Amino acid sequence: MSEHHYSFETKLLHNQHKFDPVTGGVSVPIQHASTFHQSNFDTFGKYDYSRSGNPTREALEEAIAELEEGARGFAFSSGMAAISTAFLLLSKGDHVVITEDVYGGTFRMVTEVLVRFGIEHTFVDMTDLQAVENAIQPNTKVLYVETPSNPTLKVTDIRAVCELAKKNDAYTFVDNTFLTPAIQKPLQLGADIVLHSATKFLSGHSDVVAGLAVVNNEELGKKLAFLQNSFGAVLGVQDAWLVLRGLKTLSVRLEKSVDSANKLAHFLKSHPRVKKVYYPGIEDHPHYHLQLSQAANAGAVLSFELENEEAARSLVENVKIPVFAVSLGAVESILSYPAKMSHAAMPKEEREKRGISDSLFRLSVGLENADDLIKDLSAAL
Ligand SMILES: *Cc1c(COP(=O)(O)O)cnc(C)c1O
Repeated sequence: MSEHHYSFETKLLHNQHKFDPVTGGVSVPIQHASTFHQSNFDTFGKYDYSRSGNPTREALEEAIAELEEGARGFAFSSGMAAISTAFLLLSKGDHVVITEDVYGGTFRMVTEVLVRFGIEHTFVDMTDLQAVENAIQPNTKVLYVETPSNPTLKVTDIRAVCELAKKNDAYTFVDNTFLTPAIQKPLQLGADIVLHSATKFLSGHSDVVAGLAVVNNEELGKKLAFLQNSFGAVLGVQDAWLVLRGLKTLSVRLEKSVDSANKLAHFLKSHPRVKKVYYPGIEDHPHYHLQLSQAANAGAVLSFELENEEAARSLVENVKIPVFAVSLGAVESILSYPAKMSHAAMPKEEREKRGISDSLFRLSVGLENADDLIKDLSAAL
């Protein structure tokens, strides 16, 4: 059996970086050097300066490219650095069609930074393909997808959006942070670039900020490599190593977390104090079948709504196990309150239009015993 045919979870461990070819060390060496000695006057070696290329960062870049089944991977100093660098593929006068419930940092980049450089945007409900089609203009260069969306977990049909993009000579970017290639592989569904906050599930331990991008062809790879080197928001080597280590347990972590998320979603759904549960892994979710047609499962993040703000306050004051924090995708469960955290900058009216009420919580399910989590939530509710 060749490495090429290994399943995803085996590939996480047994890949070209399973041991260091120089020493046999069973861990990717951390190469701190910023510059590299050139032994020949005429021809320089593979590495010259670490912003342009570094073997530790490169190991991570190759690993994520292989896992997303793309042509080339890139590691950045944060998810936002990866996303912002990908947007540098655009030029003045270009236009982006973007999902209305996009990550807050991406919303800020598009609405407050890109506009200053003459790059326009239209927000649409990406689950409405007619709305996506209507928003496309002659100068549209990117359709930007995030699925499932944050925090209401709406599911966008990646294949259909990619087809629309191709018809209109635009790229499709997919932020795959919520599911990771363990669950969903957007490049296989037609996307051009996959983006990640590796701060979340990929590293998985709430101890590193990192971003990744994978492109579907070498030509786009050359362009993004040029931009990565030009903009310079590269990932440091210690952090690259932490992401590489986190990746080794990605499959087992997600298996456990997704299983518990399913249990919690059903528990919350049957609880009288819970008004609504958002999780595409529950059969009556409007996008349940679409989710399963493009991903292995619904992931480990769910949202739920209580009666009112008072009930929300009481839950936070009484719940003991999950940390109450921004972020997601960690070994510990993380409970967040979008109205005052990720979407605090959004006017209340805009928030409510998107279903983000003052009693909505997002729960990223970690590796605790699911029954402990249920008991804890049950007592707090
Ligand atoms: C966290 C996050 C980002 C931004 O990543 P950083 O690593 O915080 O810069 C982008 N997209 C999604 C979906 C995220 O959850």
